[in-house]
Amino acid sequence: MGRMIKTNYHTHAKYCNHAAGEIRDYAEQAYESGLTVLGFSDHTPYRFADGYTSWYRMKPEERETYVREVQACREEFAGKLEIHIGYEVEYYPKHFDALLPELNLTECEYIILGQHFTRNEYDGVYSGGGTEDESILKEYVDQVCRAMELGVFSYFAHPDLIGYEGDGEIYEKHMSRLCATAAATDTPLEINVRGLKFGSRYPNENFIRIASRYPVKFIIGTDAHEPKDLRPGDEYEAAFRLADKYGLDLIERLKFKKPLLTGTIG
Ligand SMILES: [Zn+2]
Ligand SMILES: [Zn+2]
Repeated sequence: MGRMIKTNYHTHAKYCNHAAGEIRDYAEQAYESGLTVLGFSDHTPYRFADGYTSWYRMKPEERETYVREVQACREEFAGKLEIHIGYEVEYYPKHFDALLPELNLTECEYIILGQHFTRNEYDGVYSGGGTEDESILKEYVDQVCRAMELGVFSYFAHPDLIGYEGDGEIYEKHMSRLCATAAATDTPLEINVRGLKFGSRYPNENFIRIASRYPVKFIIGTDAHEPKDLRPGDEYEAAFRLADKYGLDLIERLKFKKPLLTGTIG
């Protein structure tokens, strides 16, 4: 079957409307699979103005229950599995300021960056859609660089989500900026196991090749949307092989950055 991870900080649950399974089922599966650390990072709630609702994330009023369930699980699995509370968060400039205090910084241990849309979602474009438009690539990279520079994201999930299909040199120019910023801000980049499992556009081997020239750290993240995603499988071995092929500096333990120190977001 191949190699398996020991730690995973990218785990979803039923709250986000497109993942299935109870928090406890993920923990049970992680423990059975031999993991020692499991971090939950379901899609963050976000409050938008003008009645816009985002379908793929938990509602603000569900957040408390999510946290309580992870905490209960942490107690139940104490001594067997180390459990952490986090969120996967987009950096939306107009709303990020207000979000952080809402995540209750005494409970929230970490946030990971997952930039599914540019701008503020409702006025941006889906990052994973195919495009040959350099301005979309540029906007994505500008936005995630700014996010990393805030120093509050513990790692960057599927940084290669951006579906740019145009000129290779243009791709390299912008993605090199992303890698340089990841290195400068000490933000580990993810090799996304879910993408390998489903044959997504990411992980993008061209991106990994570019990133391998920078002093960046990589981390393997499951991005589990069902408990069974945490079972050993070929996609994990594929992630390790990518890391081997490009000589990536792979970390297992994530150093949490304080998600809520900043008063300088604008
Ligand atoms: Zn998701
Ligand atoms: Zn995710």
